Amino acid sequence: KEIVEAPIIIIGSGYGGAVSALRLCEAGKKVVLLEMGLNWEKAGIPFSNLLKPGKSSAWLKKKTIAPFMNIFSLTPFTGTLDRLDFDNINIWVGRGVGGGSLVNGGMAVTPKEDYFKEVFPNLDAERFYNHYFPLVREELKVNVIDEQFLKDCPYYKFTRVGEEEAHKAGFKTMRVPNVYDFKYMEKEFRNEVPRSALNTEVIYGNNHGKNSLDKTYLKKAMDTGNLEILDLHKVDHIKLNDDKSYTLNAQQIDTSGNVITDKVFHCKKLILSAGTMGTLQLLLRSNAVNNLPIHEKIGKNWGNNGNFMTGRNWVKPLSGGTGSKQSTIPVGGIDNWDDKEHPFFTEIAPLPMGMDVATALYLLINRVDKKGEVAYDKATQMLKLNWDESNTVNMRQNAKYFVRKMNKANGGTRSHFLFNNGFGADICYHPLGGCVLGEATNEFGKLRDHDHLYVLDGSLIPGTIGVNPFVTITAIAEYCIENLIKQNEFA
Ligand code: FAD
Repeated sequence: KEIVEAPIIIIGSGYGGAVSALRLCEAGKKVVLLEMGLNWEKAGIPFSNLLKPGKSSAWLKKKTIAPFMNIFSLTPFTGTLDRLDFDNINIWVGRGVGGGSLVNGGMAVTPKEDYFKEVFPNLDAERFYNHYFPLVREELKVNVIDEQFLKDCPYYKFTRVGEEEAHKAGFKTMRVPNVYDFKYMEKEFRNEVPRSALNTEVIYGNNHGKNSLDKTYLKKAMDTGNLEILDLHKVDHIKLNDDKSYTLNAQQIDTSGNVITDKVFHCKKLILSAGTMGTLQLLLRSNAVNNLPIHEKIGKNWGNNGNFMTGRNWVKPLSGGTGSKQSTIPVGGIDNWDDKEHPFFTEIAPLPMGMDVATALYLLINRVDKKGEVAYDKATQMLKLNWDESNTVNMRQNAKYFVRKMNKANGGTRSHFLFNNGFGADICYHPLGGCVLGEATNEFGKLRDHDHLYVLDGSLIPGTIGVNPFVTITAIAEYCIENLIKQNEFA
């Protein structure tokens, strides 16, 4: 078999991978990035919207895998959205050049400083709030919706109703920044440009407007001339060689998921940025398959970032509900974090179903009082996630409290339309942890028991950060790669 030699390999093109690629390329290093998903821009295939799911809507599935309303059949294709199903929790992830940035809602939230300090007591919070967070907000092109547009635009009725109801119930709301270009959205509304957020595009990719990583960090990295991205390349396992280099066994696939070639890569330095679940899969599987040394902390301190969905029905039915037209980009949140008994943050989420379903959807983000653990089951050759109802007790209590208080002030019922008993405890968009900074790795993401293996992605965050996580993942990656380069790790 042909062996492809590369000095530095990064696996995965999400936030951690994109930041690492840019900073290494700027430092003059040649980098090869392996991504199992498709390079959509290069392929020239448009993304599909929520109402007409097509090629981009699911990773090699026969049916759509949105959190609700999966009535659509599909021809399997290497789409952008994947769902990993475990016993008590389903985890959605992005696939493709740009990782999660292709499918996510773009909510770019900086964590509360006090909570950041609690989660990362050993990091210099001042440096993060004065330097890394402002830096990543600029690189990611974070912006905020114009208040007048929000007030006037019929596509944001769901936000206006959500905020009004929250205030009536005594909750505090906040404006949520985003990487979607709101000036573009205003032009969409005036029909000056093709519609994207106003045309139900989001979790299967946005054709316009959204500054996903392929338009920011990865584009800049490509412009250096030092980055090569190999898409549709899935790494199966890693081997540590006697000279401390790494050999990677990968498969190149076509867009139907068929293996075209088995490939072997060899590198001196390896960065794992396959996302929390992807990185854990690579480490634990490689350990099982060919004894890759792994530290005892790998798989520990995993959490769902307190994700807990809930909904309410008959929100203001007489005055027209939440609107039949909805932008896919959320801009409102309810901030109840300072409530000692019920600390949570919730997104006022859109439900763009093409009709007014008189339903409000909320994704709560709670503290994670009891962490889970990820392991590898040799028999099934699959990841196992130790996670059940006991891990989500506080989240359920908060959701109950929230819905009750909202319904008492505004009318409405718990949404049985969306969820069996009104709660989506098993929906996770924010898997975090399992390879925690300073526990399974050194203070800059270098894995313990290894000299040339690094982890730079969501798995560094110990299961919780109190808000949507990509701003934090990006900032931690910036901090780690800056220091690793300074320490001559890639010399
Ligand atoms: P990822 O972005 O997951 O990237 C990992 C990449 O590695 C993927 O492209 C994957 O295909 C690739 N990969 C994995 N395994 C392999 C392998 N073996 N070989 C080759 N490649 C591999 N967060 C927010 O902050 N705001 C939001 O509004 C928001 N909304 C979300 C909505 C949805 C529907 C989802 C699913 C997530 C959302 N998130 C949001 C979460 C956010 O997208 C993730 O936290 C973030 O993308 C994680 O970044 P990462 O760098 O850890 O990895």
